[in-house]
Amino acid sequence: MKHIYIDGHTQSSISVDISLNDKELLLISMSKSEALEAAKFHKKIEKTPDGYILKHGDQPYNSLVIKDLNTINGIIKKYPYLGIYIEKKNRTMHKLIVAAIVVFVLSIFSIFAIYFWGLDWAAKKVAQQIPIEKEAELGKQFFEQYLSTAQVDQPQTQLVDSFFKSLHFNTPYAIKLVVVKSDVVNAFAIPGGYIVVNSAILNTIDQPAELAGLLAHELTHINKKHGTQNMVRELGATILITMFFGDYNESGSVLVRQIDNLKSLKYGRDMEQEADEIGLQQLDNHTGYSGFGMISLFEKLKKESKGDAPPEFLSTHPDMDNRIKNIQQKVKIYKKQKFSTEPSDSIFKLIKKI
Ligand SMILES: [Zn+2]
Repeated sequence: MKHIYIDGHTQSSISVDISLNDKELLLISMSKSEALEAAKFHKKIEKTPDGYILKHGDQPYNSLVIKDLNTINGIIKKYPYLGIYIEKKNRTMHKLIVAAIVVFVLSIFSIFAIYFWGLDWAAKKVAQQIPIEKEAELGKQFFEQYLSTAQVDQPQTQLVDSFFKSLHFNTPYAIKLVVVKSDVVNAFAIPGGYIVVNSAILNTIDQPAELAGLLAHELTHINKKHGTQNMVRELGATILITMFFGDYNESGSVLVRQIDNLKSLKYGRDMEQEADEIGLQQLDNHTGYSGFGMISLFEKLKKESKGDAPPEFLSTHPDMDNRIKNIQQKVKIYKKQKFSTEPSDSIFKLIKKI
């Protein structure tokens, strides 16, 4: 292998082969051969991208650029008494810089990971630990706040509540259900056991199975503590942001913001899917209605959303096409009707005045 020899006086460089004897390192090139006294090599070998630089003699010293590690090791071995070594500093520095970059990138990634996934995970765990009574207390405040600006349809509330009770869904919550007079096609759940149904969505619904599907879906948001989880998440995010930016005054407004968010409680895709799927299970386990009611309701809502003003139910329940497909898949696993659809069918006729 060819190495480079740089003459310290002339700074001229030539390509050389080397050969070692006991006292000298011989440089062999096309033009000349020269012997470097081994004892005059500097101890420290510098590693550069061009090769290992071995210095020789006094100022202006000559340099030998050795291209490969094997040759360098051969030189070190040949003259062990000289104590020649490869300088570690650059390598160590290089490693330190790489390590610092890795640590930096990992820290940034971790912060984002904690924010996006860890926060979701933690919010779920915390929400599960909150007792139902506490959720109900908190939910009641939101519910009353909401009702202070809404107009309750008492007769319809009684009928839809009776319809809901006749389905015997499984829930540990004392469900309070209201129908409010509103042109917005919407229904939503408030943590702790509150379901709000807008009168407009009752106009859209014309099968008892559709109403059962809607209620099963909303009930699952409550049973699975989706809204509570969202609140905990938002509170957690505010605390995290406060920790990073130190703006303590802002954090107090989080509860106020929660009340603002009440009417448009947004659930993630996973929560919606869970509400659909567990809702289907509820229908199958406790009622005589099939999950096809849920499908036909969602298809109607999808159609209505094609107008200028999409129903709020859809704007807060995104990705309707995929959800309908998923329900169509899941509904296949359920058996035929096992329960009577009375008295809910009769109550439904009263709701629809037919
Ligand atoms: Zn939903």
